[in-house]
Amino acid sequence: MPKAAAQKASALSATARPFTYQSRSLHCDGVSLDSLAEAYGTPTYVYSERQISERFQLFNTAFSSGAAERPHTICYAVKANSSLAILRLLGQQGAGFDIVSGGELERVRKAHKPALQRVVFSGVGKQIWEIDAALKANILLFNVESEAELYLLASRAEALGVRARFALRVNPDVFADTHPYISTGLREHKFGIDITLARAIYRKAKKLKSLDPAGVSVHIGSQIRSVGPFAAATVRVLSLIADLRKDGHDIRYLDAGGGLGIDYHDSLVDSHFNPEQQVHNYAAALSKVLKGVDAHLLLEPGRFIVAQAGALLARVLFVKQNGSKTFVITDAGMNDLIRPALYQAHHEILPVRQPRAGAPELTADIVGPVCESGDFFARDRTLANVKPGDLVLVLDAGAYGMSLTSNYNTRPRPPEALVTNGKAELIRRRETLKDLFGPELLPAG
Ligand SMILES: *Cc1c(COP(=O)(O)O)cnc(C)c1O
Repeated sequence: MPKAAAQKASALSATARPFTYQSRSLHCDGVSLDSLAEAYGTPTYVYSERQISERFQLFNTAFSSGAAERPHTICYAVKANSSLAILRLLGQQGAGFDIVSGGELERVRKAHKPALQRVVFSGVGKQIWEIDAALKANILLFNVESEAELYLLASRAEALGVRARFALRVNPDVFADTHPYISTGLREHKFGIDITLARAIYRKAKKLKSLDPAGVSVHIGSQIRSVGPFAAATVRVLSLIADLRKDGHDIRYLDAGGGLGIDYHDSLVDSHFNPEQQVHNYAAALSKVLKGVDAHLLLEPGRFIVAQAGALLARVLFVKQNGSKTFVITDAGMNDLIRPALYQAHHEILPVRQPRAGAPELTADIVGPVCESGDFFARDRTLANVKPGDLVLVLDAGAYGMSLTSNYNTRPRPPEALVTNGKAELIRRRETLKDLFGPELLPAG
C-alpha cells in the first residue's frame, strides 16, 4: 500500500472495536451502553455504523491502489448480518452482495435496489423460484455448485429468454484451519465442484446458448486467520482459468470468496489485533499470485466487515452457585447468540461498568435462560464480580449473531440499534409475542 493510502487506512481503523470505557462506563462511538439499555431494554444488539463502513473501505482501499490495485467488487456476504439498514449502508458505498437465498435477494432489493446488478448468488441448493427471481433481477453472477444446478439454470434462463452469467464454484481441496462446521474447501465437503472436473463441465456449458461462462469462484471457509490458504486456493483457480481461456471461454471474473477471520480473543483494553494489517496481508497474498492476471476480482467478506462492529448487550438476572460452580445468568440466551453453542466460539464479555483496579473478580459460566446445557456464552470465565441488574457486553457479535437468532423457548428476538455520528437509532424493534404467534393456526374447535 502506498504511504498515503496506508496512513488514510490506519487513521480509519484506529481500533479493532468501536467500544471503549469512558468515565468508567462502556460506550459505543460515544454513546453510553447504559443509555441504550435504558432506551431499548435488554438484550439488544448494538452496532457501530462507522466501523462497518471502515471495514468495508479497508477492502476497497486495499485493492484500489498500489501493488494490489485491480478491478474489483467487494460483495458483502449477506448471511453474516442481513439487517436492511446495514445492507443499505454498504450498498450505498458501492458494495456488491453475496447471497445464498431468494430471501436475501429480496433484502438487497429492499435495501438498495441498484446493488442487484452487483449480486453473486451462492449456495448448494438453489430452487427454481430463487433462480428465476435472480435471473429477472439480472444479477451479476450465479455461483453454481453442481452440474445438475447448471442444467437447471440453463433451462430457467432459456424459459425466461435471458442469458445467465455463471461461475462454477470449484472445490480446490485446500485445507483451511478453522472450525470443522465452517470449513468448506475440502473434497469431503458438500460445497462446490471438484476442481479437476470443472473444465469438462465448462465445455458442456459452452453448447448451451442460455449460459455465459463468465467466471470461476472459490470459497474455502470462514474465520480463516492465515492468508496462505486463500493464496493456495487462488493459484489452483488461476490454473483452471488459464485452461478455460485456452478452451475459448471468455472468463472475466475471479470470485475468491470470503472467509477472512478476526481475533475473537483480542482484549478490548489491551488490543493487539490490527484489522488494517490483516486486510493488507490478505490483499498482498492475493495480489502476489494474481500478478499479471487480467480478471475482475470479486471478494465475499462477511464476518470481517461486521463482526467487531457489533456486540450483544445483556443484563445479569441472577448469580447462582451449584456446588463448586458459579453461574451468571443473563437475559440473553443461545437463541440470541448461538455461536458459542454451535461452534464452541469464544466471545470476550465485559461489564458495562468498569471495575476499579484490584476489585474482586469471579470465575463463572456466563449462561442464558434457555433450557439447554449448551446455552452458554462462556465457561469458567474470570470477570468482574457482577451482580444481578448489572449490564454485560458480549463482544464481536456483529456477524452470525442476529442472523442466526431463533425464537427457541418462545423468546422474542432482540432489537438492533445502530450508532451513527454519536447517536443511536433502532434498525429493528424488539419482537413481540404477537409477532411470534402471527403465522400459527389453531384448528377450529
Ligand atoms: C458464508 C460465506 C461467505 C462469507 O464468509 P465470512 O467468513 O463471513 O467472510 C462468503 N462466501 C460464501 C459462498 C459463503 O458461504
